[in-house]
Amino acid sequence: MSSLPKIAWIGLGIMGSPMSENLVRAGYDVTGFTLEQDKLDRLTAAGGAAAASIADAVRDADVVITMVPASPQVEAIAYGPDGVLANARPGTLLVDMSSITPQTSVDLAKAAADKGIRVLDAPVSGGEAGAIEAVLSIMVGGDQADFDRAEPIFDVLGRTVVLCGPHGSGQTVKAANQLIVAVNIQACAEAVVFLEKSGVDLKAALDVLNGGLAGSTVLTRKKDAFLARDFTPGFRIDLHHKDMGIVTDAARAVGAALPVGAVVAQLVASLRAQGDGGLDHSALLRSVERLSGARL
Ligand code: NAD
Repeated sequence: MSSLPKIAWIGLGIMGSPMSENLVRAGYDVTGFTLEQDKLDRLTAAGGAAAASIADAVRDADVVITMVPASPQVEAIAYGPDGVLANARPGTLLVDMSSITPQTSVDLAKAAADKGIRVLDAPVSGGEAGAIEAVLSIMVGGDQADFDRAEPIFDVLGRTVVLCGPHGSGQTVKAANQLIVAVNIQACAEAVVFLEKSGVDLKAALDVLNGGLAGSTVLTRKKDAFLARDFTPGFRIDLHHKDMGIVTDAARAVGAALPVGAVVAQLVASLRAQGDGGLDHSALLRSVERLSGARL
């Protein structure tokens, strides 16, 4: 029997599957629940266990981790008779690693406290590759004591783990992260179309750009996608659209102007409206190509 905390993992998608498998490999006892049977089978094959419901998954857990698309899914999983708050034991730590609105995290922490359940918001950055390689950045909101309890788990999943402040702070930092990433991808996409139309060897150009001040993790991770026009997700445009909504709303609430972010939010929304919501966010290149009358 492992002396490590027993983990319930809800949401085994692009991120949740490799992250939960990293915990299994580190010796944790992980019971998963998600909507797709093949993802449950994948966890079982990796050495975890599959639960038939959220209630079954969380009943004996010390730590419950959620990694689902957005606020409505987090609320559906937390609240209601079959949810985490109704079925987890008092003292359980609920760590939501999804990217959601800061207010949802604040409200959840309050509702959970009434049941003796502790909450951290702990969204991540680093993408699917970061999840697989266990090098995620994890931005955490909540109390120091709960952070200390979760830190060994975070250390298995990521490389840069920071408590940013009270409940919701992790989500606010993640919103800023998504602003920076979207603007960076857009700038790279504009450079790609400009370089190609100018007749420069694109691979050579991106290699040298990435070695200078224009270099970035975005360019390193997305260079091949740009070159091959391979927009297999990765991080879906649908999810980045959700995140641009979060950051523009949160910025308006505090009176911060995001002029460039607002334009890129519109470009992400337009790509989605044209049917590209299921593609990786590097597909922002497609929108620059359309605007430039270039190849698609
Ligand atoms: P995904 O769509 O691949 O996976 C979501 C998973 O949640 C699915 O397996 C689905 O079955 C499960 N789910 C949804 N509703 C559920 C419910 N009610 N009960 C149980 N399971 C439920 O999404 P993803 O790409 O893994 O992203 C998850 C979160 O992480 C999102 O908030 C996203 O913004 C964030 N994120 C994603 C990336 C990335 O590169 N994909 C990077 C950083 C952060």
